[in-house]
Amino acid sequence: MSHPLSYLHDQLEQWRAEGAYQRLRILESASAAESRFDGKQVINLASNNYLGLTTHPKLREAAIQAVKDFGVGSGAVRTISGTMRIHMQLEERIAAFKNVEACVVFQSGFAANAGTVSAILGPDDHIVSDELNHASIIDGCRLSRAKIHVFPHKDVAAAEKILAELDNVPGHKLLVSDGVFSMDGDIGALPGLVEAAEKHGAIMMVDDAHSSGVLGRQGRGTIDHFGLHGRVQVQVGTLSKAIGVLGGYVCGSRDLIDFLYHRARPFLFSTSHPPAVAAACLAAFDVLEQEPQRMENLWENTKYFKQGLTSAGFNTGISETPITPVIVGEAKVAHGLSRELFAAGVLATGIGFPTVAKGKARVRTIVTATHTKPELDQALEVFQKVGKKMGILV
Ligand SMILES: *Cc1c(COP(=O)(O)O)cnc(C)c1O
Repeated sequence: MSHPLSYLHDQLEQWRAEGAYQRLRILESASAAESRFDGKQVINLASNNYLGLTTHPKLREAAIQAVKDFGVGSGAVRTISGTMRIHMQLEERIAAFKNVEACVVFQSGFAANAGTVSAILGPDDHIVSDELNHASIIDGCRLSRAKIHVFPHKDVAAAEKILAELDNVPGHKLLVSDGVFSMDGDIGALPGLVEAAEKHGAIMMVDDAHSSGVLGRQGRGTIDHFGLHGRVQVQVGTLSKAIGVLGGYVCGSRDLIDFLYHRARPFLFSTSHPPAVAAACLAAFDVLEQEPQRMENLWENTKYFKQGLTSAGFNTGISETPITPVIVGEAKVAHGLSRELFAAGVLATGIGFPTVAKGKARVRTIVTATHTKPELDQALEVFQKVGKKMGILV
């Protein structure tokens, strides 16, 4: 008899043969503009650490103090005995920042999306979802058992057509989009989608994982960027990217948050954050307000680096944010490019199918506020040299 899990081995062998097998790179320093991976110091263009907060002294200080005051764990799920004062303070802080009534913090952005969609919708409901929405939204949709209607990327007319067809169909309707799309770095078509949702009485939900700390006043996200306050009922964000720590949150009405306190499964059945996580997140919101220079640097670096890549002749697609893909076509080429870049001192991840469409494989870059001009120049030089060597640039 073969081992009952031997089919996993067979699949792994096939991935190895196809060059799709991914070995994990080991980070041996803090995540920062320059980091050491696998024993090699490289310019890090592969993190979501947009504002450089992972190593900010105020966040470190807050986390250390919380460990001293409250220990390392919360001891239970939120609904049993694991709601600490600092968890409540963080939720109040985020709600005020986002200009909404209330906020609930989850263990991750993934848990926030999956837990929320599956809690507020059921089998008799309908979800209208952008084809490029994040996996955690898709999983939430599936867990809800609602009927899922997918529309082509940012196609407001297509979304509205689906909503119109559902006008006389019973059930709640949810229209959901990422605020910024994580693979192409383009901004969601939110004004049009919000209008469509209002016209057809649908709940509007936006996932601002890649926009909080990046877009809007002091990083308030896409709702602030587009001036859509009060018109998006479910606002999701993450504390794991620009905020530099870990976690996810949902902002909205007091009723929405109270409902999630009672029904969101990751909230009910998984232990809350250690106090150090909540404390560091709270400190991050102070920094967002006190150090606007960080967001300015982020956007200055973004423009500089994007300009450098496009004028070198790379295809950077439709990006409008610090996420800048270098689209090369075949997954093999993308992974090869990533390897060559690393050898030359630049970390940027190769991404292929199924994360992006076939033929649209890419190396994804994300600059941060803390990259220096010399670092960006060095990275551009490496990109050019490797691009020519591999025949991607002519
Ligand atoms: C990263 C991401 C998430 C997940 O956030 P985590 O806090 O890392 O779990 C959710 N949605 C989108 C759009 C993301 O890019």
